[in-house]
Amino acid sequence: MTKALLLYSKGLDSILCKKILEEQNIKVDTINFGTCFFDGEIDITEDHLKIVKEPKYGRGQGMNPCRDCHLLMLKKAGEIMKEKGYDFIATGEVVSQRPFSQSKEQLLFLEKKIGLDGFILRPLSAKLLPETIAEKKGLVDRNKLYDIFGKSRKRQLELAREFKIDDFPMPAGGCILTEKEYAKKLKKLLEMNFNFDSKDAEVLKRGRVFFEDQTVFIITRNKEEGNDIQRFFKTGDIYLEPDFPGPLVLIRSFTKKSNVDIIIERGKEYLLQYSKKVPQDFKILKYEK
Ligand code: SF4
Repeated sequence: MTKALLLYSKGLDSILCKKILEEQNIKVDTINFGTCFFDGEIDITEDHLKIVKEPKYGRGQGMNPCRDCHLLMLKKAGEIMKEKGYDFIATGEVVSQRPFSQSKEQLLFLEKKIGLDGFILRPLSAKLLPETIAEKKGLVDRNKLYDIFGKSRKRQLELAREFKIDDFPMPAGGCILTEKEYAKKLKKLLEMNFNFDSKDAEVLKRGRVFFEDQTVFIITRNKEEGNDIQRFFKTGDIYLEPDFPGPLVLIRSFTKKSNVDIIIERGKEYLLQYSKKVPQDFKILKYEK
């Protein structure tokens, strides 16, 4: 039986790909990568952070290094394909759906770059692309593949109706690197500390964020956010809790030279700007492990 490994985002395009291949009696296993910037089952944060910091092939409108990201995912899928004996990799990519990373030339360039040319089948746009090895070998019937092109979702929605698929997430992107506000913060973090890690990237998703010299101040908006942010504490963090329930402050400094008393005072000043009450006292926690 022909076996395909599908890079699966859980969006409509990947759901359709699965269906299209299964209609041809192909066994489809899915693989879903995730990082601290987007959810997924197999964590590739470590490798992904490297390309977020220094993409070889540029970024989209935010901090999203989409070409490098595709390359990384395809490379990892390629390793699994070879190791586990899949016949080919499938993806839900649609030619020209995203101008930055999905032009026909781009798609072909990327797969060649990692030595997988001919091994990646894109069922939704296959008829617009050269025949893959699986098609040439007769493992996949090219006539039952599609020639979908561009940003419009019309054809995919028609196909979903045809296949009676009515439960699928709306296209939301899902990757926080494409969000303008988050991208601005991450860019500042990168300028401040090239060696930032996933916990640094995570805390920027929460609260109001301020950068000063080599220090980040995060003022949480409510108790839940205050509790949640504690999952990403790091050694050296300072956490300020006023003597009433409300916003909290996380202070993370990237330099040993910072004067702790001064940054604590700055943290209190930031908190006062967003607190409805004036605290009489603060609990100051220094996170050491
Ligand atoms: S939007 Fe995010 S997850 Fe998608 S390819 Fe670009 S960097 Fe990767």
